[in-house]
Amino acid sequence: MTIRKSASSAKTSSAKKPASKGAGKAAPGPAQPQLLPPEDVAEIFARFHKADPEPQGELEYVNAYTLLVAVVLSAQATDVGVNRATRGLFAVADTPQKMLALGEDAVRDHIKTIGLFRAKARNVIALSQLLIDRHGGEVPVDREALEALPGVGRKTANVVLNIFFGHATIAVDTHLFRISNRIPLAPGRTPLEVEQGLLRVIPEQYLLHAHHWLILHGRYVCKARKPECWRCLIADICRYEPKSTPG
Ligand code: SF4
Repeated sequence: MTIRKSASSAKTSSAKKPASKGAGKAAPGPAQPQLLPPEDVAEIFARFHKADPEPQGELEYVNAYTLLVAVVLSAQATDVGVNRATRGLFAVADTPQKMLALGEDAVRDHIKTIGLFRAKARNVIALSQLLIDRHGGEVPVDREALEALPGVGRKTANVVLNIFFGHATIAVDTHLFRISNRIPLAPGRTPLEVEQGLLRVIPEQYLLHAHHWLILHGRYVCKARKPECWRCLIADICRYEPKSTPG
């Protein structure tokens, strides 16, 4: 609701500005997106919940460590592509110790179908070593400790904390960023602004699964190039215009 407050106060203060002789020169700024009232946001998540009460991520993993590695590998890659590579990798290395024993060359070989595989193989080995050195081979349940690992940023830490440890975090990827600005649920210029906005507006009971609902909605319905508004379950609430039609 802070967002709502600041948006409306910004509007008010600009409306009160007296016309000046330089006013004609000022280019009008972009229109402030009209934020949804809390009851509409609640209705959106109630519908997501009704349609898919237990949404699941699409990355395959067998424990916290393999989830962490899979998320690191998923940067600029599809979940399907990552799963194809990690099935073989995790069959032989599902702990940091086994990953180190496997070695960087073999890791690189397993993941060579994924973009940026050389840097990612280096990071997987380096983060496995750090997990052993600093955390006894366990994945820490702590954002700062996670973000200190090679190849792990805020988004990856949020995914691991949410999916494996059940924390109410929201990882803003390209899908969440796009649809949060489009609907708009939580407009922002950066992933962090969007994340903080989403945490403010999403009702608490929906926070745990919000990340999955929004990712799946962005991936399969509210697509980047052509959102499929005609089959969207929140089309009557969403303020994006023009709504798309089939064909
Ligand atoms: S109505 Fe269209 S733009 Fe709005 S959320 Fe649905 S698919 Fe996206």
